[in-house]
Amino acid sequence: MAIDVLERGDLPFPGSLPEFQRLFPDEAACATYLERARWSDGFICPHCGVADEPRHISTRPRVLRCRDCRRDTSITAGTVMERTHTPLSTWFWAAYLVASQTPGMSAVQFQRQLGLSRYETAFQILHKLRAGMVRPDQDRIGCKSEEHVEADETYIGGRTRGKGRGVHDMVLVAGAVEVRQRKQQGSRNKRRTGRYAGRLRLAVVPDRSARSLGGFIERTVAPGATIITDDWSGYAKLAERGYRHTAVAERGDTQVTETFLPIIHLVFSNLKTWLRGTHHGVSPQHLQAYLNEFTFRFNRRFYPFNTFRSLLGIAGDVTAPTYAEFYTNKSQPTTSSRRV
Ligand SMILES: [Zn+2]
Repeated sequence: MAIDVLERGDLPFPGSLPEFQRLFPDEAACATYLERARWSDGFICPHCGVADEPRHISTRPRVLRCRDCRRDTSITAGTVMERTHTPLSTWFWAAYLVASQTPGMSAVQFQRQLGLSRYETAFQILHKLRAGMVRPDQDRIGCKSEEHVEADETYIGGRTRGKGRGVHDMVLVAGAVEVRQRKQQGSRNKRRTGRYAGRLRLAVVPDRSARSLGGFIERTVAPGATIITDDWSGYAKLAERGYRHTAVAERGDTQVTETFLPIIHLVFSNLKTWLRGTHHGVSPQHLQAYLNEFTFRFNRRFYPFNTFRSLLGIAGDVTAPTYAEFYTNKSQPTTSSRRV
């Protein structure tokens, strides 16, 4: 059953945990999926480089043995499950929950849903899976000529423990989002004339100076990209920094904003709702981690199976719509040596 998941790019993401558990019922199903996901063009022995069907050892489903040099390769090496003592199926089910549910799930809820006997195990798994989400995506956006980037900044109100109710410590967040055009305009999207968001980048910045905002743009948007901003002086030097820049005179007119910067404002609005609703306010020192999690989910929202694989550390291209495209030569070894 697990093989279907790999071969079918159009497979809908299971709507419930029991449905998901039927796709990945046991260790063997998960091991098969892992092997196929990591060596989609067939196994290549990392020790001797020979490409040959490996030997499977029935008592050790996580190990592939090279027929040529007879050395073993772990299918979990370099993933978040490396050296784990927990069943692979538990990891898969846990990643499903994190990928599919609105964030903010506690380790206790997590433990209950997965039927784990130890709280510590649930806590460690959740911690490791979430670590993948708070690592920022590094590549710069806006490199395609047919899309442009909207950039703006907004204040997020943090609530600080011990300061009572209300908003304290407003934090400035800069955002940049790719704007794409639907090929066929649907009637539902007339207001935004078929435009929709591509990839997103968000960062806490110290102030609204050209140094802070321009620096954010340079770190997150590819040189040569077309950028639309308001006419704030913090964005005035973008053309000098190598961008095709359009500055829109906003002057507090929401109609202008709605026309020229609709997508980034929609993103800011969703971000604030998410922060309020699921985290009940976030302290400033943790805000960047939450921005990274929001961005991680946002950028993978059309492809939940990619979210799932990213969480487990077995993903290749984050926007790949098919399963044939991932191939984990790119995957990073996990830095934590803590065993779960
Ligand atoms: Zn070998």
